[in-house]
Amino acid sequence: MTVLIPTRLSTANLDACPSTTTAAPGAERFVLRERGQREVFCGLTGIIWLHRKIQDAFFLVVGSRTCAHLIQSAAGVMIFAEPRFATAIIDERDLAGLADCNAELDRVVTRLLERRPDIKMLFLVGSCPSEVIKLDLSRAAERLSREHAPRVRILNYSGSGIETTFTQGEDACLASLVPDLRRTEAAAPKSLLVVGALADVVEDQFKRIFADLGIDNVTFLPPRKAADMPPVGPNTSFLLAQPFLTDTARLLEAAGAQRLLAPFPLGAQGTTGWLKAAADAWNIPDEHFRQVIAPAEKRARAALEPYRQRLAGKRIFFFPDSQLEVPLARFLFSELSVDPVEVGTPYLHKQHLAMELDQLPETTLLSEGQDVERQLDRCREAKPDLVVCGLGLANPLEAEGFTTKWSIELLFTPVQGYEQAGDLAELFARPLVRRTRLEV
Ligand code: SF4
Repeated sequence: MTVLIPTRLSTANLDACPSTTTAAPGAERFVLRERGQREVFCGLTGIIWLHRKIQDAFFLVVGSRTCAHLIQSAAGVMIFAEPRFATAIIDERDLAGLADCNAELDRVVTRLLERRPDIKMLFLVGSCPSEVIKLDLSRAAERLSREHAPRVRILNYSGSGIETTFTQGEDACLASLVPDLRRTEAAAPKSLLVVGALADVVEDQFKRIFADLGIDNVTFLPPRKAADMPPVGPNTSFLLAQPFLTDTARLLEAAGAQRLLAPFPLGAQGTTGWLKAAADAWNIPDEHFRQVIAPAEKRARAALEPYRQRLAGKRIFFFPDSQLEVPLARFLFSELSVDPVEVGTPYLHKQHLAMELDQLPETTLLSEGQDVERQLDRCREAKPDLVVCGLGLANPLEAEGFTTKWSIELLFTPVQGYEQAGDLAELFARPLVRRTRLEV
């Protein structure tokens, strides 16, 4: 087993009239379920934003050279300081059973931790190759944790691309943290937990708003430092900041925490709805709530207005990729008057998305899973103005004359909250402007 630690990564930038009728609230709407060939990235991709978030964590992928190339090229950034992810490459000797993979892994981890005393939390990240050779990373994590405790905590999760999509990497990572969170008693003070990796700037904005509302006991999962893991218990209410955290939410609920039913904090309306769910759970008077959010909400609406004029009436088609598709379609429809023709998502979690689904127009086709050739046919027939899809489909669709947006960019860019509402709209307006320029 050899280790590939990126010291300098590629500078390649990753930029390589709506219906007014929404479905009746709570009404069961038709969902096209497809189980054919899929075009998605694997869960290793999540390391790209997670390693920036937990600043003293390290992600060691146990995989192949393909895995190493994927995360390096997906990173698309220069790393000037010590990197916080690497790949322990399973080579031919490991695959042929000539080497003891566990002993090799222990050697790699020990050498890494000797060289990097700043690492406080180490994730062993499984991949397709490690799953195929049935390398038990949970046992390895337990064994190595015992050896290196208390200096470093070692956890594991799977980022494998077998039957998963790329945002599930974050869900698996956060879910691996939950069993270790300190449990609080029922008599503990009421606390709010925000779940999902948010850019630090967004987290700081939300912290200020919660404080102004009078909600002080607020924690975030993941935290910025391994030592700041939030406690959880029956007096914890949590707000999902991302729609793809199914397993994490389930484990938090099993620990006694309650999920607050809310839309996702995308755009002005989404952010207001998300904050309101917390305000209601804390019995904050509506007048005070409106007073606190009014200035930021007004700024967000003003930032959106020029984009609404540009985007209103445009037809958009989502291929399933990031699991953000439903909240994004809701934002584009209700705040920018964009017409979502088809909204495809890898998995449709109806409870988590209930407030978003209610706001989509009846004319939108909702699809779950993928049969890529059929979906491409539907897209060609619909002739949308903009297609949101993964990188694998973007180039062929551009070659056919479609205007595309890479869905992965929405994970790398701070888009949640009032102050980012204009930036989020810009992400959809930019490819259309680029296309117009190319046509001139
Ligand atoms: S985990 Fe699987 S899908 Fe992802 S890069 Fe490695 S081999 Fe490819």
